[in-house]
Amino acid sequence: MTRIQSYFKGNLKQPSIFDWLTRLGVMRILRPWCGGAGVIFVLHRVCRNEDTPLAPMFATTGTLENMLAALRGAGWDIVSLDELRQRLTGGPKPGQRPFAVFTFDDGYLDNLTLALPVFRKFQAPLTVYVCTGFLDRTVDPWWASIDRLIHENDAISVTIPGFGEQRFSCHTWAEKAATYTELWSVLLGADERATATIADLYRRYATDAASEMARIAMTWEQAAELAKDPLVTVGAHTCSHPSLPRLSIDQARHEMREGRDQLEARLGVPVRHFAYPFGHLGQREIALAEEIGFETATTTLSGNVFQENVADLRCLARRNFYEDPARFSPQLGARFALQSAMGCDLLVNAIRGRPRVVSRRLWS
Ligand SMILES: [Zn+2]
Repeated sequence: MTRIQSYFKGNLKQPSIFDWLTRLGVMRILRPWCGGAGVIFVLHRVCRNEDTPLAPMFATTGTLENMLAALRGAGWDIVSLDELRQRLTGGPKPGQRPFAVFTFDDGYLDNLTLALPVFRKFQAPLTVYVCTGFLDRTVDPWWASIDRLIHENDAISVTIPGFGEQRFSCHTWAEKAATYTELWSVLLGADERATATIADLYRRYATDAASEMARIAMTWEQAAELAKDPLVTVGAHTCSHPSLPRLSIDQARHEMREGRDQLEARLGVPVRHFAYPFGHLGQREIALAEEIGFETATTTLSGNVFQENVADLRCLARRNFYEDPARFSPQLGARFALQSAMGCDLLVNAIRGRPRVVSRRLWS
């Protein structure tokens, strides 16, 4: 699970200057400078085209297909994280095409049942970062629980300590999104208030963490089935999906190392890559990822991957993709993929004097 803010960013339904720059061929010339060596997408859950995507964690299979087809058609190679690392450490090669990496966080069952068939159709690699607590059913997937409850109800009532009984109207998508943001900010606190709030929600709506997890997450057997597909790279994503900077260094090290060791032992595949839960990290977590031996580690800071990142392989930027039915469609998803891959927004960053390349200097 990553930061929520990106879900509300941008409105791809509006034609932008980038459409014109792309049509005129300007972005193709600028791309190596502002798009870098490639791009890593971060997705979470996948649903069928005929389902109404639940905000804010889903992409439809149609959108995925359009993203893959658009990138391939425009000359991008879809590669694994191992290939990304090899390309960066091997240095730039004349005529080398840009790359795109697709990553899925947490270990959702639909990654196996819906995403993998799409990637098989395109013979394209994908990475799934698995949190072992998902497979063990020991993590409370509160972000997915509130997503479902908000989607299925026209109003949500809950008692939040310090604020009393709250009633959120959830008739429209805008109201649902606002309610999600409100509850997310309370629950991300991971404190007594958060614990009491989610407990009250589960009691009122007759559910609990284990049954919510059973709806959405892979079992160990399903994860093993996913892992044996040659297109799949399994990455680590800790044991309990904590916000790592809040832990002691020993706890953080244990979460990162134990999550990897369990996956390697029980799935029988090497696990060389890591994603920071919630995209929360600091210099300490970057150093731990190096110490534990992860070859790459990915964040949720938005950006592309540049050759300069060869010195910063444990804090790579990714592009969040969430499907908002009010804003996205498979065609718009493809447009998002291409404009991200070309680094259109990074061109704007550079013009405004903001960093174009994500590096470890951005974390304190
Ligand atoms: Zn996550």
